[in-house]
Amino acid sequence: MRKSELNERVEKVLQDTGADLAQRVKSLKKLLKEAELSEDLFLVGKINLQLSICYYDLGDRNSLFRCAVKAVDVFEKLGHRNMLAGSYNMLGLAYRAQENYFRAVESYNRALEKIRGLKKPSVRKVAMFSNIAECYYLMGEYEKSSKLLLECTELYCAKYPEDHISAVIFAINLSDNYESLGQYEKALEVLDGVRQHADALHRDVYLLGYNIRRCCALYKLGRYEEGAKFADWGINAVNSGNDSYEFHRDIEKIANLEIEIGDLDRARSFAAILTKYTNDNGHTLDLIVAKRVQAKLFQASGKEKEALLLYRELSELYERRIREQHEVQYESQKNAEAASREIGKLLQKISTSREKAERDPLTGLLNRSALVSITSAFLQIAKEKGRTLGALFMDIDYFKQFNDTYGHAAGDEAIKFVARACLDEETPTVRFFRYGGDEYFGVMLEHKDCELEQIALRISEKVRASGFKHEKNPNGQRLTVSIGIVNMDMQKSDDTILDLIKYADKTLYRAKDTGKNTVFSGNLLENLEQEFKKITAK
Ligand code: GH3
Ligand code: MG
Repeated sequence: MRKSELNERVEKVLQDTGADLAQRVKSLKKLLKEAELSEDLFLVGKINLQLSICYYDLGDRNSLFRCAVKAVDVFEKLGHRNMLAGSYNMLGLAYRAQENYFRAVESYNRALEKIRGLKKPSVRKVAMFSNIAECYYLMGEYEKSSKLLLECTELYCAKYPEDHISAVIFAINLSDNYESLGQYEKALEVLDGVRQHADALHRDVYLLGYNIRRCCALYKLGRYEEGAKFADWGINAVNSGNDSYEFHRDIEKIANLEIEIGDLDRARSFAAILTKYTNDNGHTLDLIVAKRVQAKLFQASGKEKEALLLYRELSELYERRIREQHEVQYESQKNAEAASREIGKLLQKISTSREKAERDPLTGLLNRSALVSITSAFLQIAKEKGRTLGALFMDIDYFKQFNDTYGHAAGDEAIKFVARACLDEETPTVRFFRYGGDEYFGVMLEHKDCELEQIALRISEKVRASGFKHEKNPNGQRLTVSIGIVNMDMQKSDDTILDLIKYADKTLYRAKDTGKNTVFSGNLLENLEQEFKKITAK
C-alpha cells in the first residue's frame, strides 16, 4: 500500500466517524498497525495524536497518556514542530488528568516553544495560556492564574468575538479562581459577562461547566433558589449524556453546598451521577470523589455507620491513589522508554530500506538517485556558504576488452574492486556513486584542489596495483582507470548539478584522449572554457 493511500484512509476515518468515538478508536487502532508495518513513522505519530484526542474526549486517562507520550516521541524524532506542538498539548492534558500539574505546565510550555514563528500553528497560543492558567488554579496559585486569564481575555476575546467556546472557558477558569479566593460576587460577574457567548454554545459539555459554576456562585451568595435552577439544568444535561470527569469536582462542590443547605434530594441526584460514572469508568480519582460525597450524605442523613464504612474505604482509596501516582511516574518513564525503543527500531528499518534503495547491488556504492539528492544538498550548502564543490568522473580503461578477454564475472570483480577504492575515500563530505557501467562519479564539498588531486591519484594508484591483469591494455597490461576532476567556487556561480557533471566528464575525456591511465583536472576559466592539466604524483 502506498503511504499516501494510508494517510487518505486515516483522513477518511476522521471524517466519517464524526462523534462516534468508539468506532473512531477502533478504526484508528487498525490503521496504526498498518502504519507501523509500512514503517510510516509520520503516520504512526499522527494516529497516536488522534487517538489521544479520542481518549481525552472519552475520559480514558491512561490511554490518553500512553498515546500522547508516543506522539511526542515520534515527532521529537522527526523534528516536526507543528505536530509536536499538538502532541505536547495532549501530553499536557494527559498530565493534568493524572493531577501532575507541574508536568502539565511543562508540556504546555513546550507546545508554546514549538509554535514560535510558525505561520499556521496547530495549537493556539491563547489556548496554551489558558491551559497553563488552569493548572496554576489547580495548584492553588489563584493570583497567577487570574492574571494570565485576564491577559487571555484581553488579548483574544476582542479580536475573535465569534469564538464563544474560548470566551466561556476563560470565564469559567477565572470564576474558579475568584471563587477560591472567596470573591463570589466577582465570580458571578465574570460568568454573567459571557452569558451571550454561553447562549451561543452548541456543545453542551462546556455549557454544563458554565452553569455548574453559576450554581456554585449563587449558592455561595445565598441565592439558593436561583442556584437550584442551574443545578437542575445540570442534572438534566448529565442525564441526557453530557458528562465528563472534568466537571466532577464542581459537581462535588455543589453537592456539598446542597448538603450544607439541607437540600439533600438534589445532593443525592448529584451523588448518583458521580456513582454511575464510577460504575462505568472506575478510575480511583472518580471513586474518591463519588464516595466522598456519598459519605457526607450518609452523615447528613444520620447514617453514621454507613458513613464510617465509606470513610474507611476512602482512606484505602487515598493510599491506593498514592501508590498509583508512583506507578504513573514509573509507567510514564517505562512507556516513554518503550515508545522510544519501538521508534528507534522503526527508524533503523526505514533507514536500512532507504539505504538499500539508494545503493547499487553489485558494488554497494550509492546509485544515481542518491547522486541527485546528495549532490543537490551539497550544491545548496556550497552556494549558501560560498564554498567549493568538487566532482570526479572516472572510467575503467579498455573495459570492453577486459570483459571479452577474462569474462563477465571477472569484469564484475574488477568493477567491485574499483568501487572499493572509492568507498575507502568516503567521508561525510566526500561521496561516490556508480554512475553506470564502468563509470564512477564522486562529489566533494569544501575541499582544496590538492585534496581532490590526492584522492584521484590514490584511487588510480590502487587500481594499478590491484593485481588485475589486462593484456589488451597498452598501459602496463594491467587494469587502469582514467579520471577527470573539477573544483568549482560556488560563491558567484549559478551552475547546476548537470553543469558540474558536464565539466567533470569533459575533463575525463581529455584524460582518455591523451592515452588513458591518467588523472586530469579541468579548471573553469572566466570565458567558461576549461583549462586542462595532467596531474601526476609528486
Ligand atoms: P574506454 O577505455 O574508452 O572507456 O573503453 P571501454 O572499453 O571501457 O568502453 P566503455 O567504457 O564504453 O565500455 C563499458 C563496458 O563496460 C561495456 C559493458 O560491456 C561493460 N559493463 C557495463 N556494466 C558492466 C557490469 O556490470 N559488469 C561487467 N562485467 N561489465 C559491464
Ligand atoms: Mg570504460
